[in-house]
Amino acid sequence: MNDDLRALIRTIPDFPKPGIQFRDITTLLLDPAGLAACVERMVAATEGPVDLVAGIEARGFLFAAALAVPLRAGVLLIRKDGKLPGATIAEDYALEYGSDRIAIHADACAPGARVLLVDDLIATGGTARAAVRLLRKAGAEVRQAQFVVDLPDLGGAQRLRDEDIAVSALVA
Ligand code: IMP
Repeated sequence: MNDDLRALIRTIPDFPKPGIQFRDITTLLLDPAGLAACVERMVAATEGPVDLVAGIEARGFLFAAALAVPLRAGVLLIRKDGKLPGATIAEDYALEYGSDRIAIHADACAPGARVLLVDDLIATGGTARAAVRLLRKAGAEVRQAQFVVDLPDLGGAQRLRDEDIAVSALVA
């Protein structure tokens, strides 16, 4: 059913480094019908009321905003550490070499806020799992995460499910 979207995503070999097959969704963003289908399917896959859609920097922001409008939710930005102007809480996560840190404004969500997590792609799940830890640390109720692309061989979606998150993706 989502073969139409799959056809709009291209693979760039050896980006950002040799051996990596980068799934490039900029071609999907350029396609009006593809982008609309993407947003409509993600909205349709959303379970229950949502107070905030949390998007992961940077491509996650695009889908978070597009979903938040029809869902009548707000947008919560999950940014690379050091980019947000107010007081923040942060969470570290491991990369293949080294680590990274994401942050949200400490007052971004009220305790118990129902938050839908959104990003363009899930690979190992390290970023999304750190985002869930961060949102839960802030008191959010995070039960669902949505992605445009899942790379199932890398196991990230399963790791997220193990943390009680309902995971859906349009293209796997
Ligand atoms: P993970 O933490 O390994 O699941 O990687 C997911 C994060 O890295 C997301 O924020 C993605 O935007 C980004 N990412 C990893 N691989 C790709 C890719 O092939 N295409 C686009 N984004 C990617």
